[in-house]
Amino acid sequence: MKKRVAVVWGGAAWMIVCSTLLEKTSRKWEIILFEKNKSLWAKVVISWWWRCNLTTGYFKKKELKTAYTRGRDFLAFAMSQFWPKQVRKWFEMQWVACKQEDDGRIFPISNDGKEVVRMFTSLFDDSRLSLHYKEPVTSLTFDKKSALYTITTALETYTVDLVVLTTGGNAYAHTGSSWDGYAFARDLWHTITPLWPSLNSFMTKETWSHALSWLSFEDARISFDDEGEKKTANWPLLLTHFWISWPLTFIVASLSAFHEVSDVSPLQVFFSPLADLWREKWNQILLDAWKDSPKKWLITILSRRLPKRFCEALLGELWLESQQISILRKDDRKKIASRLWDGIPLSLIKRRPGDEFVTAWWVDTTHIHPKTGESTICPWLYFAGEILNVDGVTWWYNLQACWAMGRLVGRAILFKWSLS
Ligand SMILES: Cc1cc2nc3c(=O)[nH]c(=O)nc-3n(C[C@H](O)[C@H](O)[C@H](O)COP(=O)(O)OP(=O)(O)OC[C@H]3O[C@@H](n4cnc5c(N)ncnc54)[C@H](O)[C@@H]3O)c2cc1C
Repeated sequence: MKKRVAVVWGGAAWMIVCSTLLEKTSRKWEIILFEKNKSLWAKVVISWWWRCNLTTGYFKKKELKTAYTRGRDFLAFAMSQFWPKQVRKWFEMQWVACKQEDDGRIFPISNDGKEVVRMFTSLFDDSRLSLHYKEPVTSLTFDKKSALYTITTALETYTVDLVVLTTGGNAYAHTGSSWDGYAFARDLWHTITPLWPSLNSFMTKETWSHALSWLSFEDARISFDDEGEKKTANWPLLLTHFWISWPLTFIVASLSAFHEVSDVSPLQVFFSPLADLWREKWNQILLDAWKDSPKKWLITILSRRLPKRFCEALLGELWLESQQISILRKDDRKKIASRLWDGIPLSLIKRRPGDEFVTAWWVDTTHIHPKTGESTICPWLYFAGEILNVDGVTWWYNLQACWAMGRLVGRAILFKWSLS
Protein backbone atom coordinates (compact mmCIF):
# COMPACT_ATOMS: atom_id res chain seq x y z
CA MET A 1 0.00 0.00 0.00
CA LYS A 2 1.26 3.47 -0.85
CA LYS A 3 2.02 5.68 2.08
CA ARG A 4 0.85 9.23 1.70
CA VAL A 5 3.01 12.23 2.30
CA ALA A 6 1.00 15.36 2.55
CA VAL A 7 3.35 18.12 1.59
CA VAL A 8 0.76 20.69 2.25
CA TRP A 9 0.59 24.21 0.76
CA GLY A 10 2.20 25.36 -2.40
CA GLY A 11 4.57 28.26 -1.81
CA ALA A 12 8.31 28.67 -2.26
CA ALA A 13 9.28 26.34 0.57
CA TRP A 14 6.98 23.60 -0.65
CA MET A 15 8.43 23.78 -4.16
CA ILE A 16 11.87 22.91 -3.02
CA VAL A 17 10.79 20.26 -0.50
CA CYS A 18 8.80 18.57 -3.22
CA SER A 19 11.52 18.84 -5.91
CA THR A 20 14.00 17.28 -3.48
CA LEU A 21 11.63 14.42 -2.68
CA LEU A 22 11.02 13.75 -6.37
CA GLU A 23 14.77 13.37 -6.95
CA LYS A 24 14.73 10.05 -5.05
CA THR A 25 11.22 9.08 -4.00
CA SER A 26 10.22 5.58 -4.94
CA ARG A 27 6.73 4.84 -6.14
CA LYS A 28 5.66 3.45 -2.81
CA TRP A 29 5.20 7.02 -1.66
CA GLU A 30 2.53 9.39 -2.81
CA ILE A 31 2.93 13.11 -2.36
CA ILE A 32 -0.20 15.15 -1.99
CA LEU A 33 -0.38 18.91 -2.23
CA PHE A 34 -3.26 20.93 -0.88
CA GLU A 35 -3.33 24.49 -2.09
CA LYS A 36 -6.16 26.93 -1.58
CA ASN A 37 -5.28 28.88 -4.75
CA LYS A 38 -6.01 27.63 -8.23
CA SER A 39 -2.33 27.62 -9.13
CA LEU A 40 1.08 27.46 -7.51
CA TRP A 41 3.20 30.15 -6.07
CA ALA A 42 1.07 33.24 -6.04
CA LYS A 43 3.62 35.03 -3.89
CA VAL A 44 6.76 34.02 -5.69
CA VAL A 45 5.39 35.29 -8.99
CA ILE A 46 4.95 38.74 -7.49
CA SER A 47 8.29 38.65 -5.70
CA TRP A 48 10.48 41.61 -6.38
CA TRP A 49 7.99 43.29 -8.66
CA TRP A 50 7.44 40.13 -10.71
CA ARG A 51 11.15 39.61 -11.37
CA CYS A 52 11.73 37.15 -8.52
CA ASN A 53 14.93 37.93 -6.68
CA LEU A 54 15.98 34.29 -6.20
CA THR A 55 19.15 34.72 -4.17
CA THR A 56 22.51 36.50 -4.23
CA GLY A 57 25.92 36.05 -5.80
CA TYR A 58 27.82 37.31 -2.78
CA PHE A 59 27.22 36.13 0.72
CA LYS A 60 29.62 35.55 3.55
CA LYS A 61 28.87 33.50 6.62
CA LYS A 62 29.26 36.47 8.94
CA GLU A 63 26.49 38.29 7.04
CA LEU A 64 23.93 35.85 8.44
CA LYS A 65 24.01 38.00 11.54
CA THR A 66 22.89 41.15 9.78
CA ALA A 67 20.75 39.55 7.09
CA TYR A 68 18.37 37.68 9.38
CA THR A 69 16.82 39.57 12.27
CA ARG A 70 15.19 36.47 13.69
CA GLY A 71 16.06 32.78 13.35
CA ARG A 72 19.66 33.13 12.15
CA ASP A 73 21.04 30.45 14.49
CA PHE A 74 18.28 28.08 13.55
CA LEU A 75 18.89 28.78 9.86
CA ALA A 76 22.68 28.49 9.91
CA PHE A 77 22.84 24.75 9.29
CA ALA A 78 20.22 24.76 6.52
CA MET A 79 22.05 27.63 4.80
CA SER A 80 25.38 25.83 5.02
CA GLN A 81 23.82 22.91 3.15
CA PHE A 82 22.22 25.03 0.42
CA TRP A 83 24.27 28.17 0.14
CA PRO A 84 23.23 30.97 -2.25
CA LYS A 85 25.76 29.78 -4.87
CA GLN A 86 24.33 26.26 -4.74
CA VAL A 87 20.82 27.68 -5.04
CA ARG A 88 21.76 29.49 -8.24
CA LYS A 89 23.38 26.35 -9.59
CA TRP A 90 20.29 24.33 -8.73
CA PHE A 91 18.01 26.71 -10.64
CA GLU A 92 20.39 26.71 -13.61
CA MET A 93 20.38 22.91 -13.64
CA GLN A 94 16.59 23.16 -13.98
CA TRP A 95 17.17 25.39 -17.03
CA VAL A 96 16.35 28.71 -15.38
CA ALA A 97 19.22 30.83 -16.73
CA CYS A 98 20.20 33.37 -14.08
CA LYS A 99 22.05 36.67 -14.06
CA GLN A 100 23.79 38.58 -11.33
CA GLU A 101 23.19 42.31 -10.96
CA ASP A 102 25.84 44.78 -9.76
CA ASP A 103 24.70 44.56 -6.15
CA GLY A 104 24.96 40.76 -6.26
CA ARG A 105 21.25 39.97 -6.54
CA ILE A 106 20.36 36.99 -8.72
CA PHE A 107 17.32 37.04 -11.00
CA PRO A 108 16.18 34.86 -13.90
CA ILE A 109 17.70 36.35 -17.09
CA SER A 110 14.15 36.71 -18.39
CA ASN A 111 13.34 39.00 -15.41
CA ASP A 112 10.14 37.04 -15.17
CA GLY A 113 9.07 35.21 -11.99
CA LYS A 114 6.65 33.19 -14.09
CA GLU A 115 9.58 31.39 -15.70
CA VAL A 116 10.46 29.96 -12.28
CA VAL A 117 6.89 28.85 -11.77
CA ARG A 118 6.79 27.22 -15.22
CA MET A 119 9.95 25.29 -14.38
CA PHE A 120 8.43 23.92 -11.17
CA THR A 121 5.14 23.19 -12.90
CA SER A 122 6.87 20.97 -15.46
CA LEU A 123 8.92 19.31 -12.72
CA PHE A 124 5.69 18.47 -10.93
CA ASP A 125 4.13 16.79 -13.93
CA ASP A 126 4.79 13.47 -12.20
CA SER A 127 2.52 10.56 -11.34
CA ARG A 128 3.92 10.35 -7.78
CA LEU A 129 2.30 13.68 -7.05
CA SER A 130 -1.35 14.56 -6.66
CA LEU A 131 -2.03 18.24 -6.77
CA HIS A 132 -5.23 19.35 -5.08
CA TYR A 133 -5.77 22.96 -6.06
CA LYS A 134 -8.57 25.05 -4.61
CA GLU A 135 -8.74 22.64 -1.69
CA PRO A 136 -8.06 24.60 1.50
CA VAL A 137 -7.12 22.59 4.55
CA THR A 138 -9.36 23.35 7.49
CA SER A 139 -7.86 21.19 10.23
CA LEU A 140 -4.84 19.05 11.03
CA THR A 141 -4.71 16.57 13.90
CA PHE A 142 -2.26 13.92 15.09
CA ASP A 143 -3.22 10.62 16.65
CA LYS A 144 -0.45 9.63 19.02
CA LYS A 145 -1.56 5.97 19.11
CA SER A 146 -1.48 5.32 15.39
CA ALA A 147 1.12 8.05 14.73
CA LEU A 148 -0.98 9.22 11.80
CA TYR A 149 -2.14 12.70 10.80
CA THR A 150 -5.67 13.54 9.75
CA ILE A 151 -6.09 16.37 7.31
CA THR A 152 -9.54 17.77 6.76
CA THR A 153 -10.06 19.91 3.70
CA ALA A 154 -13.08 21.69 2.33
CA LEU A 155 -13.80 18.54 0.30
CA GLU A 156 -12.58 15.43 2.15
CA THR A 157 -10.66 13.89 5.04
CA TYR A 158 -7.26 12.23 4.46
CA THR A 159 -5.06 10.13 6.71
CA VAL A 160 -1.34 10.54 6.09
CA ASP A 161 1.96 9.47 7.63
CA LEU A 162 3.88 12.66 7.18
CA VAL A 163 3.10 16.37 6.96
CA VAL A 164 5.24 19.29 5.90
CA LEU A 165 3.76 22.59 7.05
CA THR A 166 4.63 25.39 4.67
CA THR A 167 1.65 27.74 4.93
CA GLY A 168 3.78 30.90 4.86
CA GLY A 169 3.32 34.02 6.99
CA ASN A 170 0.47 36.47 7.05
CA ALA A 171 1.75 39.12 4.62
CA TYR A 172 -0.11 39.85 1.36
CA ALA A 173 -3.01 37.69 2.52
CA HIS A 174 -4.63 37.81 -0.94
CA THR A 175 -1.89 35.41 -2.16
CA GLY A 176 -3.28 32.76 0.20
CA SER A 177 -1.01 33.29 3.21
CA SER A 178 -3.20 33.53 6.28
CA TRP A 179 -3.54 32.56 9.90
CA ASP A 180 -4.25 28.89 9.12
CA GLY A 181 -0.73 27.60 9.77
CA TYR A 182 -0.77 29.29 13.16
CA ALA A 183 -3.81 27.29 14.24
CA PHE A 184 -2.48 24.01 12.83
CA ALA A 185 0.86 24.33 14.61
CA ARG A 186 -0.81 25.39 17.84
CA ASP A 187 -3.20 22.41 17.68
CA LEU A 188 -0.11 20.21 17.37
CA TRP A 189 1.28 21.61 20.65
CA HIS A 190 3.80 24.02 19.13
CA THR A 191 4.58 27.39 20.66
CA ILE A 192 3.29 30.33 18.72
CA THR A 193 4.94 33.69 19.16
CA PRO A 194 3.13 37.00 18.68
CA LEU A 195 2.80 38.01 15.07
CA TRP A 196 4.10 41.32 13.73
CA PRO A 197 4.47 42.83 10.29
CA SER A 198 7.96 43.40 8.87
CA LEU A 199 9.44 45.00 5.75
CA ASN A 200 7.00 47.90 5.52
CA SER A 201 6.98 51.67 4.93
CA PHE A 202 6.23 54.14 7.73
CA MET A 203 4.13 57.28 8.00
CA THR A 204 5.87 60.22 9.66
CA LYS A 205 4.32 62.80 11.95
CA GLU A 206 6.59 65.58 10.64
CA THR A 207 5.10 67.12 7.55
CA TRP A 208 8.32 68.54 6.07
CA SER A 209 9.18 65.10 4.70
CA HIS A 210 5.73 64.80 3.05
CA ALA A 211 6.52 67.84 0.93
CA LEU A 212 9.63 66.09 -0.41
CA SER A 213 7.69 63.33 -2.11
CA TRP A 214 9.76 61.18 -4.54
CA LEU A 215 13.14 62.40 -3.37
CA SER A 216 15.54 59.50 -2.99
CA PHE A 217 18.82 59.20 -1.10
CA GLU A 218 21.35 56.67 -2.33
CA ASP A 219 23.14 56.08 0.94
CA ALA A 220 21.02 57.23 3.84
CA ARG A 221 21.14 56.16 7.47
CA ILE A 222 18.44 55.70 10.08
CA SER A 223 19.24 55.08 13.70
CA PHE A 224 17.00 54.57 16.70
CA ASP A 225 17.10 53.46 20.28
CA ASP A 226 15.80 49.97 20.92
CA GLU A 227 15.39 49.68 24.67
CA GLY A 228 18.83 51.14 25.36
CA GLU A 229 20.55 49.55 22.36
CA LYS A 230 21.35 51.82 19.43
CA LYS A 231 20.29 50.30 16.10
CA THR A 232 21.54 51.70 12.83
CA ALA A 233 20.85 50.84 9.21
CA ASN A 234 22.33 52.28 6.00
CA TRP A 235 20.72 51.94 2.59
CA PRO A 236 18.88 53.86 -0.08
CA LEU A 237 15.68 55.59 1.02
CA LEU A 238 12.73 56.98 -0.86
CA LEU A 239 10.40 59.66 0.49
CA THR A 240 6.83 59.50 -0.73
CA HIS A 241 3.76 61.55 -0.01
CA PHE A 242 3.18 60.43 3.59
CA TRP A 243 5.69 57.63 3.95
CA ILE A 244 9.35 57.03 4.22
CA SER A 245 9.89 54.02 2.10
CA TRP A 246 12.08 51.10 1.10
CA PRO A 247 14.60 49.67 1.03
CA LEU A 248 16.07 51.37 4.11
CA THR A 249 12.76 51.32 5.95
CA PHE A 250 12.61 47.56 5.44
CA ILE A 251 15.62 47.13 7.70
CA VAL A 252 14.18 49.60 10.19
CA ALA A 253 10.85 47.72 10.11
CA SER A 254 12.60 44.41 10.61
CA LEU A 255 14.69 45.68 13.53
CA SER A 256 11.71 47.40 15.14
CA ALA A 257 9.07 44.78 14.32
CA PHE A 258 7.84 44.53 17.92
CA HIS A 259 7.69 48.25 18.63
CA GLU A 260 4.32 49.80 18.89
CA VAL A 261 4.19 52.47 16.21
CA SER A 262 1.28 54.87 16.66
CA ASP A 263 0.29 58.49 17.19
CA VAL A 264 0.41 58.03 20.95
CA SER A 265 3.59 55.99 20.93
CA PRO A 266 5.69 57.02 17.92
CA LEU A 267 9.00 55.37 17.14
CA GLN A 268 11.60 58.13 17.25
CA VAL A 269 14.26 57.68 14.57
CA PHE A 270 17.07 59.88 13.24
CA PHE A 271 17.57 60.27 9.52
CA SER A 272 20.95 61.22 8.01
CA PRO A 273 20.86 61.80 4.25
CA LEU A 274 24.51 60.84 3.65
CA ALA A 275 25.53 57.92 5.82
CA ASP A 276 29.28 58.30 5.41
CA LEU A 277 29.67 62.09 5.88
CA TRP A 278 30.41 62.50 9.55
CA ARG A 279 29.89 65.65 11.61
CA GLU A 280 33.46 67.00 11.39
CA LYS A 281 33.50 66.53 7.63
CA TRP A 282 30.28 68.57 7.23
CA ASN A 283 31.72 71.23 9.49
CA GLN A 284 34.87 71.29 7.33
CA ILE A 285 32.87 71.56 4.11
CA LEU A 286 31.05 74.63 5.48
CA LEU A 287 34.28 76.13 6.83
CA ASP A 288 36.04 75.67 3.48
CA ALA A 289 33.12 77.36 1.70
CA TRP A 290 33.29 80.23 4.23
CA LYS A 291 36.97 80.70 3.33
CA ASP A 292 36.87 80.00 -0.43
CA SER A 293 33.56 81.47 -1.53
CA PRO A 294 32.12 83.65 1.27
CA LYS A 295 29.55 85.24 -1.03
CA LYS A 296 27.92 81.90 -1.90
CA TRP A 297 24.55 81.14 -0.36
CA LEU A 298 24.33 78.43 2.26
CA ILE A 299 21.69 76.60 0.25
CA THR A 300 24.02 76.52 -2.79
CA ILE A 301 26.82 74.97 -0.74
CA LEU A 302 24.59 72.30 0.80
CA SER A 303 22.87 71.47 -2.46
CA ARG A 304 26.19 70.51 -4.05
CA ARG A 305 25.80 67.28 -2.07
CA LEU A 306 22.11 67.06 -1.31
CA PRO A 307 18.86 67.73 -3.21
CA LYS A 308 17.96 71.43 -3.02
CA ARG A 309 14.40 70.73 -1.82
CA PHE A 310 15.83 68.73 1.04
CA CYS A 311 18.30 71.51 1.97
CA GLU A 312 15.44 74.02 2.14
CA ALA A 313 13.49 71.68 4.40
CA LEU A 314 16.54 71.12 6.61
CA LEU A 315 17.10 74.83 7.13
CA GLY A 316 13.39 75.26 7.86
CA GLU A 317 13.57 72.45 10.41
CA LEU A 318 16.51 74.24 12.09
CA TRP A 319 14.75 77.60 11.96
CA LEU A 320 17.57 79.00 9.82
CA GLU A 321 17.31 81.27 6.81
CA SER A 322 19.41 80.69 3.72
CA GLN A 323 22.09 83.31 3.95
CA GLN A 324 25.49 84.10 2.53
CA ILE A 325 27.97 81.70 4.06
CA SER A 326 30.15 84.59 5.28
CA ILE A 327 27.49 85.62 7.82
CA LEU A 328 26.72 82.10 9.06
CA ARG A 329 27.34 81.99 12.81
CA LYS A 330 29.70 79.37 14.19
CA ASP A 331 26.93 77.88 16.35
CA ASP A 332 24.63 77.56 13.38
CA ARG A 333 27.36 75.95 11.29
CA LYS A 334 27.86 73.37 14.04
CA LYS A 335 24.13 72.87 14.34
CA ILE A 336 23.84 72.05 10.63
CA ALA A 337 26.84 69.70 10.70
CA SER A 338 25.56 67.91 13.72
CA ARG A 339 22.00 67.57 12.36
CA LEU A 340 23.28 66.11 9.11
CA TRP A 341 25.43 63.56 10.93
CA ASP A 342 23.39 62.74 14.06
CA GLY A 343 20.22 62.77 12.02
CA ILE A 344 17.01 64.72 11.71
CA PRO A 345 14.40 63.45 14.17
CA LEU A 346 11.42 61.74 12.61
CA SER A 347 8.48 60.30 14.52
CA LEU A 348 7.14 57.14 12.89
CA ILE A 349 3.44 56.94 13.67
CA LYS A 350 2.07 54.23 11.41
CA ARG A 351 3.16 51.16 9.47
CA ARG A 352 1.68 51.24 6.01
CA PRO A 353 -1.33 48.89 6.30
CA GLY A 354 -1.21 45.68 4.23
CA ASP A 355 2.15 46.75 2.83
CA GLU A 356 4.42 44.45 4.81
CA PHE A 357 6.36 41.95 2.73
CA VAL A 358 6.90 39.34 5.42
CA THR A 359 5.71 38.37 8.86
CA ALA A 360 8.04 38.56 11.83
CA TRP A 361 7.72 35.75 14.36
CA TRP A 362 5.25 32.98 14.09
CA VAL A 363 5.97 29.34 14.96
CA ASP A 364 8.77 29.22 17.52
CA THR A 365 11.75 27.19 16.32
CA THR A 366 12.52 25.86 19.82
CA HIS A 367 10.70 22.60 19.12
CA ILE A 368 12.00 22.14 15.59
CA HIS A 369 15.26 20.37 14.89
CA PRO A 370 17.61 22.76 13.01
CA LYS A 371 19.33 19.90 11.18
CA THR A 372 16.14 18.28 9.84
CA GLY A 373 13.27 20.74 10.19
CA GLU A 374 11.33 18.00 12.03
CA SER A 375 9.20 18.75 15.05
CA THR A 376 10.57 17.44 18.31
CA ILE A 377 6.99 17.13 19.57
CA CYS A 378 5.25 15.28 16.72
CA PRO A 379 7.24 12.73 14.69
CA TRP A 380 7.08 13.08 10.91
CA LEU A 381 5.87 16.67 11.14
CA TYR A 382 8.18 19.08 9.32
CA PHE A 383 8.23 22.86 8.97
CA ALA A 384 9.82 25.11 6.34
CA GLY A 385 9.51 28.68 5.09
CA GLU A 386 7.95 31.85 6.39
CA ILE A 387 5.68 29.99 8.83
CA LEU A 388 8.73 29.81 11.08
CA ASN A 389 10.23 32.46 13.26
CA VAL A 390 12.88 33.27 10.65
CA ASP A 391 12.90 36.50 8.67
CA GLY A 392 15.43 38.49 6.71
CA VAL A 393 15.83 42.21 6.21
CA THR A 394 14.85 42.33 2.54
CA TRP A 395 15.86 41.52 -1.05
CA TRP A 396 16.47 37.82 -1.58
CA TYR A 397 16.90 36.83 2.07
CA ASN A 398 13.45 35.39 2.61
CA LEU A 399 13.35 33.27 -0.51
CA GLN A 400 16.86 32.03 0.20
CA ALA A 401 15.71 30.97 3.67
CA CYS A 402 12.78 29.09 2.09
CA TRP A 403 15.08 27.31 -0.40
CA ALA A 404 17.56 26.35 2.33
CA MET A 405 14.94 25.12 4.80
CA GLY A 406 12.96 23.35 2.08
CA ARG A 407 16.03 21.52 0.79
CA LEU A 408 16.96 20.52 4.34
CA VAL A 409 13.50 19.10 5.01
CA GLY A 410 13.40 17.24 1.69
CA ARG A 411 16.76 15.61 2.34
CA ALA A 412 15.90 14.78 5.96
CA ILE A 413 12.72 13.02 4.87
CA LEU A 414 14.58 11.01 2.21
CA PHE A 415 17.14 9.99 4.81
CA LYS A 416 14.52 8.96 7.36
CA TRP A 417 12.66 6.98 4.70
CA SER A 418 15.83 5.18 3.74
CA LEU A 419 16.08 3.93 7.32
CA SER A 420 12.45 2.91 7.71
C1 LIG B 1 5.17 41.57 -2.78
C2 LIG B 1 6.24 40.65 -2.23
C3 LIG B 1 7.49 40.63 -2.82
C4 LIG B 1 8.50 39.80 -2.30
N1 LIG B 1 9.70 39.78 -2.92
C5 LIG B 1 10.67 38.97 -2.44
C6 LIG B 1 11.93 38.86 -3.12
O1 LIG B 1 12.14 39.45 -4.18
N2 LIG B 1 12.88 38.07 -2.58
C7 LIG B 1 12.65 37.37 -1.41
O2 LIG B 1 13.55 36.68 -0.94
N3 LIG B 1 11.46 37.41 -0.79
C8 LIG B 1 10.47 38.17 -1.28
N4 LIG B 1 9.26 38.21 -0.65
C9 LIG B 1 9.02 37.29 0.48
C10 LIG B 1 8.86 35.82 -0.06
O3 LIG B 1 8.07 35.83 -1.24
C11 LIG B 1 8.20 34.93 0.99
O4 LIG B 1 8.97 34.99 2.17
C12 LIG B 1 8.09 33.48 0.51
O5 LIG B 1 7.34 33.40 -0.69
C13 LIG B 1 7.42 32.63 1.59
O6 LIG B 1 7.30 31.32 1.07
P1 LIG B 1 6.50 30.20 1.86
O7 LIG B 1 6.57 28.96 1.04
O8 LIG B 1 6.96 30.11 3.25
O9 LIG B 1 5.01 30.74 1.91
P2 LIG B 1 4.02 31.25 0.70
O10 LIG B 1 4.79 31.50 -0.56
O11 LIG B 1 3.24 32.33 1.32
O12 LIG B 1 3.15 29.95 0.45
C14 LIG B 1 2.19 29.51 1.37
C15 LIG B 1 1.10 28.82 0.56
O13 LIG B 1 0.22 28.17 1.47
C16 LIG B 1 -1.11 28.28 0.97
N5 LIG B 1 -2.02 28.09 2.10
C17 LIG B 1 -2.03 28.79 3.27
N6 LIG B 1 -2.99 28.28 4.08
C18 LIG B 1 -3.59 27.25 3.41
C19 LIG B 1 -4.63 26.32 3.72
N7 LIG B 1 -5.29 26.34 4.87
N8 LIG B 1 -4.96 25.37 2.79
C20 LIG B 1 -4.30 25.32 1.59
N9 LIG B 1 -3.32 26.16 1.24
C21 LIG B 1 -2.97 27.13 2.14
C22 LIG B 1 -1.16 29.67 0.37
O14 LIG B 1 -2.20 29.74 -0.58
C23 LIG B 1 0.24 29.79 -0.26
O15 LIG B 1 0.26 29.37 -1.60
C24 LIG B 1 8.24 39.00 -1.16
C25 LIG B 1 6.96 39.02 -0.57
C26 LIG B 1 5.97 39.83 -1.09
C27 LIG B 1 4.61 39.82 -0.43
